[in-house]
Amino acid sequence: MRILLDQFTKTFGATTVIDKMSLDIESGEMLALLGPSGCGKSTTLFAICGIHRMNGGRLLFGERDVTHLPSQMRNVGVVFQNYALYPHMNAFDNIAFPLMIRKMAKPEIERKVLAIAELVHIEGLLKRKPAQLSGGQQQRVALARALVREPDILLLDEPLANLDAKLRLEMRSEIRRIQQETGISAVLVTHDQVEAMSMADRIAIMDQGQIVQLAAPKDMYDEPVTDFVASFLGNPP
Ligand code: ADP
Ligand code: MG
Repeated sequence: MRILLDQFTKTFGATTVIDKMSLDIESGEMLALLGPSGCGKSTTLFAICGIHRMNGGRLLFGERDVTHLPSQMRNVGVVFQNYALYPHMNAFDNIAFPLMIRKMAKPEIERKVLAIAELVHIEGLLKRKPAQLSGGQQQRVALARALVREPDILLLDEPLANLDAKLRLEMRSEIRRIQQETGISAVLVTHDQVEAMSMADRIAIMDQGQIVQLAAPKDMYDEPVTDFVASFLGNPP
């Protein structure tokens, strides 16, 4: 689904951290929000999922204006850096949880959980609790939980930050595979340029609450519009 953030403004007290930012996420694309720590990436993601109220602007999911809808009335899937799995529940119940609270019938829940577990390659791990899973496996469970109710958009906030180098490489291509197989629109928040370059269809590079450039990875690398973009991508002028 196409997601449109139009003239988004966010303030904390007297401080404006995002000032009239617009972002158009095309249906089925993986868009990376890339920028240094504190530039406003998570704030943007929280506005899309509804954790934060917007102080100005509009948010559209397709034709639907969701600007004032609470988080639970938007159909978003979110994966955070720390996965935020429920420690006392096994993987199956973690994934089933978003369907249980919607009072879906048991057989349908089971069918959906098994299908998504197969997609993310954790069929054999469903009885385990999070503490009995590796970091990469926990992340797969978190992805399954985010995807199980077929959200309009998948939001990933630094999903690879807690993994070691080898797993990070593996999960880069796994997340990309899963996103492409489901055809879901996705936003990947990261401060890692290599991650953004290797995973995203387009990159929006942010600095101090603004989008400085939005382009396909190669175009941005070849033709950065500012020295900031060039330096950040590791291709200084
Ligand atoms: P990023 O995810 O790019 O590292 P954030 O979106 O978390 O950055 O933060 C953007 C700016 O907003 C930072 O200056 C941060 O200090 C500020 N900020 C974020 N959340 C809050 C909050 N709850 N209260 C006050 N300031 C905040
Ligand atoms: Mg952040």
